[in-house]
Amino acid sequence: MAKKKIATVWLGGCSGCHMSLLDIDERILEVAKLADIVKSPVVDAKDFEEADVVLIEGAVANEEHVEEIQHLRKKAKVLVAFGDCAVSGNVTAIRNAVTKEQALERSYIDVESNVEGFTPKDPEVSKLIDRVEPLHRHVKVDFYLPGCPPSADTIFYVLNELLHDRMPVLDEDKVKMG
Ligand code: SF4
Repeated sequence: MAKKKIATVWLGGCSGCHMSLLDIDERILEVAKLADIVKSPVVDAKDFEEADVVLIEGAVANEEHVEEIQHLRKKAKVLVAFGDCAVSGNVTAIRNAVTKEQALERSYIDVESNVEGFTPKDPEVSKLIDRVEPLHRHVKVDFYLPGCPPSADTIFYVLNELLHDRMPVLDEDKVKMG
């Protein structure tokens, strides 16, 4: 069987889902037999032409995320909403309780660490979209992998199934938190 390609991407999340991915430990060797990782924050691989499986952690929270998710959708054969923030907004969507202007003010202006007068208008600050949204509000999602974070066992099971061209089935036993 020809080796497949996996990409993992981190949008509006805390990186906890990627930490759980690393917890699959030595089973990564089984994954490596089946697939190359062509992009991921946990390896030195930055871009790719296409991938069989793309795991996306985090919600869509700013304009960069909107562009990236659409770009990734074009390259992904199977796009996975990886973790509860990607599936439903979850923790990232707590920001929806206030306006984006209020969130920016609290994050960049109304903080003791703002000693250099940094403002939300600086070009380094990505423009927030009005509301944090789960992935499926922007692109078609092929598989939902819930959990905050999903457990390493669940992640390995899902990856292994997808890399064997099988659609995973998540029963209650498999959907355990990490
Ligand atoms: Fe972090 Fe949980 Fe969101 Fe994953 S689902 S990015 S662990 S808050």
